Amino acid sequence: MRHSIVAGNWKMHKNAHETEDLLNDLIEKLPSDKEVEIIVAPTFVNLSSAVQHLEFTNIGVAAQNMHQAESGAFTGEISADMLKNIGVDIVILGHSERRSYFHETDALLANKVDTALKHELRVIFCFGEELKDRQNQQHFNIVENQLKDGLFHLDAKAWENIVLAYEPVWAIGTGETATPDQAQEMHQFIRQTVEDKYGREVAENVSILYGGSVKPDNAKEIFSKPDVDGGLIGGAALKADDFAAIVNAV
Ligand code: PGA
Repeated sequence: MRHSIVAGNWKMHKNAHETEDLLNDLIEKLPSDKEVEIIVAPTFVNLSSAVQHLEFTNIGVAAQNMHQAESGAFTGEISADMLKNIGVDIVILGHSERRSYFHETDALLANKVDTALKHELRVIFCFGEELKDRQNQQHFNIVENQLKDGLFHLDAKAWENIVLAYEPVWAIGTGETATPDQAQEMHQFIRQTVEDKYGREVAENVSILYGGSVKPDNAKEIFSKPDVDGGLIGGAALKADDFAAIVNAV
């Protein structure tokens, strides 16, 4: 069911001690009575302790990535089963940093999505255009293709476990945010594209998050847009006060 979500993507930040400190800070500062799903995504090595630490809280834990294979000779990789086994129920796939630095293609991501769903992980699927795409007026095409190539092989039922995260690459970590109207325009287009393929019910039920330099001072306006169901937060998720302020902006 469509609902508000604020997820913090910690990227390659916070060692074990720092993770514990930040989680304690978040437990203290995050609201417990708001109608919003709160998720944090620490690094792989701290996932297990984060799950334990947050057990009796309203904060969920996601992984930032996983491998598409069930198991095998893939040195350095982590499988869906390993995540499930330590109590992680959500995985972020397709982040632009994975796409650009680690060459993850739409076809590979489609594969990862299948593996994640097979293991009953919910997927936060990230996609978004680069600056040059927007300058060339190609942003709608790019976003549509990422959506189709990554997710449109799924049946309608599978969409119950998909959350979309539109993240224009030019807005990630740059301090440059899409305007609330730019976000709304793209989110509406995304929902319409899903509707064209799957019908109104699926489209109305999918949560679509915005990501890219969301901060306490711009979150409220972005989240107020009708097709924006929350945010995927990078930099501002690393400070409990900022993350709490963003959650409170929902
Ligand atoms: P940012 O990152 O909030 O630091 O721009 C967002 C993201 O990468 O998900």
